[in-house]
Amino acid sequence: MKYCKICLQTDTRPGIKFDSRGVCPACNYHESLQSVDWEERREELKDIVSFGKVNNHSGYDCIIGVSGGKDSTRQAFFVKDVLKMNPLLVCLSYPPEQVTDRGAANVSNMIKHGFDCIVVNPAPATWRSLMKKGFMQYTNWCKSTELALFSSVPRLAIAYQIPLIWWGENAALQLGDLNVMGKAGSDGNNLRKMNTLGGGDYSWLLGEGVEKKDILQYCYPSEKEMEDANLRITFLGYFWKDWSLIDNGIFSTLRGLDIREEKPWEIGDPVGITSLDEDWVTLNQMIKYLKFGFGRISDYVNEDIRNGRMTREDGISLVQKYDGKCSEKYIQSFCDYIEISVSEFWVQVDKSVNLKLFEKNALGNYKPKFEVGIGL
Ligand SMILES: [Zn+2]
Repeated sequence: MKYCKICLQTDTRPGIKFDSRGVCPACNYHESLQSVDWEERREELKDIVSFGKVNNHSGYDCIIGVSGGKDSTRQAFFVKDVLKMNPLLVCLSYPPEQVTDRGAANVSNMIKHGFDCIVVNPAPATWRSLMKKGFMQYTNWCKSTELALFSSVPRLAIAYQIPLIWWGENAALQLGDLNVMGKAGSDGNNLRKMNTLGGGDYSWLLGEGVEKKDILQYCYPSEKEMEDANLRITFLGYFWKDWSLIDNGIFSTLRGLDIREEKPWEIGDPVGITSLDEDWVTLNQMIKYLKFGFGRISDYVNEDIRNGRMTREDGISLVQKYDGKCSEKYIQSFCDYIEISVSEFWVQVDKSVNLKLFEKNALGNYKPKFEVGIGL
């Protein structure tokens, strides 16, 4: 495992490739922002906006997938107030057992600001059994829910004949998942290749009482469906100089976003502005840490280092302290939800722990072999 020479990105992130200097793609992208012709990018943005307006057949010229969190709140305001478009917001919501009051309040906050919003709720029993399957087979409960998250938006765009989808971050540029890279930095039509969408293979969802008719919300539209609908997917983050966790968090908090008050060692998040609408992404971040050697804190720190808000040394000490941390109460509530015991939880997680990166002290207790900032 190697660390980027500039930030604390590891080369264990799926889809990543460092350059010959040992620098990660996200740092290279950040460096390249210095020489971007923003005027040219604004022109490109204008073209995309006019594509949406010209192909508006339903009254909505674009659609935005929202969770009510910091990124989507900022995007929605930008599209409405700056681009002067008429967006339809689509929120894939969690079932009642999973969604937090804070999550519901944040979606209400957006509606209160005057947006039209459709909330999609896949059937809770199927949702739960797919989550359990994702966890028991891949140690990743989000595997099915992320499919639904990314698929529900283009599904509704097609159904409502809305020509344009805005997503926020281009994971290829801003994180380094190069599989997603489209024809240009703003182009999201390659999103189907992202690791999360698993190459369009949905067969693992079927069985144990789940039939094809139950999983429509989880299936990303085919290339043909997208082409027939003349659907264009674009990353808005590409057009912003200051897209970051912190900048988006500040913007949205000032507009009513409700954030977390837990401590960093409970949620592995230094400021409490991510995953506001449910509590179990935190444990998935812990599992990600045990699989790949980096968790959520790394994402914050890396941005802050690139933006000159933090030194690499200070970043190292934060990552050492909090990366991969998750309160036991969230592990317990997750186990209650998918009806397993906490020891069954750890038996499953144990299978996925990367033993090249971690030494096992006992079940559920792992010590990193790597040194943060230096690697292995
Ligand atoms: Zn880097």
